[in-house]
Amino acid sequence: SIRLTNVHKRHGDLHIIRGLDLDIPAGQTVAIVGPSGSGKSTLLRLLMTLDRPSEGTIEIDGAPMWTDGQGQPATADSAHVRAVRGKIGMVFQQFNLFPHLTALGNVIEAPMYVQGLARADAEKLGREYLDKVGLGDKLDAYPAQLSGGQKQRVGIARALVMRPEIMLFDEVTSALDPELVGGILQIMRELSAQRTMTMLIVTHQMKFAEQSSDRTLFFDGGRVVEDAPSDRFFSNPRHPRARQFLQAVI
Ligand code: ATP
Ligand code: MG
Repeated sequence: SIRLTNVHKRHGDLHIIRGLDLDIPAGQTVAIVGPSGSGKSTLLRLLMTLDRPSEGTIEIDGAPMWTDGQGQPATADSAHVRAVRGKIGMVFQQFNLFPHLTALGNVIEAPMYVQGLARADAEKLGREYLDKVGLGDKLDAYPAQLSGGQKQRVGIARALVMRPEIMLFDEVTSALDPELVGGILQIMRELSAQRTMTMLIVTHQMKFAEQSSDRTLFFDGGRVVEDAPSDRFFSNPRHPRARQFLQAVI
């Protein structure tokens, strides 16, 4: 589960996240939608510990993120922060693959160097996960030899191989050719249907959000201005800004 209490994020004079209170139970699939610059990626970055809140607390399964385990403030490399981060995987719009490593090399990197698995064990696991995302025949291909859709499959396998409790997806289809989008959405749909992970999905694919998420958060100006079951949100958005947004994007 994820709990945010009065979370703010500032960059200098910019007040980017303006007081988020949020409870996300384990197993829920949450779509995050809203205009550009409203703070969606910033929220995911805070959850991934790529960035820390200026104020407020983030708890994962009841454990506050930025402490040392004894309630004292901690840095990103403290054991407790690393343990909490270990429960979370993230997939990025621009793939963020290591260009000098093959598909399999990308996927086994964290199992070997974070979890300390032996190469043979990591490779066995890596093959299994690349197979799951339909890339069993591209193990030895380098990112430059893969299509956008294939690169994104590697990105997803690389996150899944760490068996996260929570998966964060930040516009993972936005850099793809239109005909490659459906396959990636289908993978996310199947992962969601398994109900084994909590999933937060920032997306501009409104049909996907409507059909494949339990709950939708509509962001505007660093706040969640509407938080509703997805079927209700898309059939009858209540906030004027949400109505306006949906009319503009559909
Ligand atoms: P998009 O849909 O375009 O991806 P978003 O909702 O993901 O938008 P964020 O990337 O979270 O928006 O950015 C929110 C605001 O914070 C933007 O105005 C952005 O310019 C600003 N911002 C984000 N990161 C930083 C930073 N490191 N320094 C200064 N400003 C930042
Ligand atoms: Mg963004």
